[in-house]
Amino acid sequence: METVACPDCDLLQRLPELPPGGKARCPRCGNTLATQPTDPLDRTLALTLTAAIVFIVANTAPLMGLSAVGRYASTTIIGGAYQMWVQGQEVTAVIVAFCAVIAPASYILFMLAVLFAVRRPPAPQWVGEMLRTAHSMQPWSMNEVMLLGILVALIKIAELATVDAGVGMYAVGGLVVLFPALMITFHPREVWKRVKWADGEAPPSRPDATGAEAGR
Ligand SMILES: [Zn+2]
Repeated sequence: METVACPDCDLLQRLPELPPGGKARCPRCGNTLATQPTDPLDRTLALTLTAAIVFIVANTAPLMGLSAVGRYASTTIIGGAYQMWVQGQEVTAVIVAFCAVIAPASYILFMLAVLFAVRRPPAPQWVGEMLRTAHSMQPWSMNEVMLLGILVALIKIAELATVDAGVGMYAVGGLVVLFPALMITFHPREVWKRVKWADGEAPPSRPDATGAEAGR
């Protein structure tokens, strides 16, 4: 039993024990306060592992190939960022490298560490810290923005040279779907429930009190 404040109307209430697949709604405004997933964290772990594999493919396979006047060239994401750096666009190169490689890679790594660590509760304190870092990396992973940029560039270049999309491009497309999917299936509450308390106390339980309405 835990006490929560409704994020919409601020009403303080106690969450009842929820059955798998159950939801708790705020009795005042009807906002969904908590959901009890049928497979807590497993689906997110599977999606994160898939995202990790696809991310490696996206960064090692060529993004696109270009052939013009008998010459052929292909590049990866980080290769593109390196070329920008060499051509004097250092700021853009750093932004591309951060938003397309460093931020998504850190997000995947931190999420994997968190999801593996909470499999055997109580999880150590650093899991909470990692979860916060993963959250701060989330808005910076902009695969969809990058994909849009590449597609625009592709269409522009296609007028001048023969361009073909590489495996890396399809992998980036896969990441655009995988990232929101893992964010939707992830329930941070399930992680916090399994993390050891900072003061070493066990979570207090008050089975007598009730509050939010449980339902399905
Ligand atoms: Zn409410």
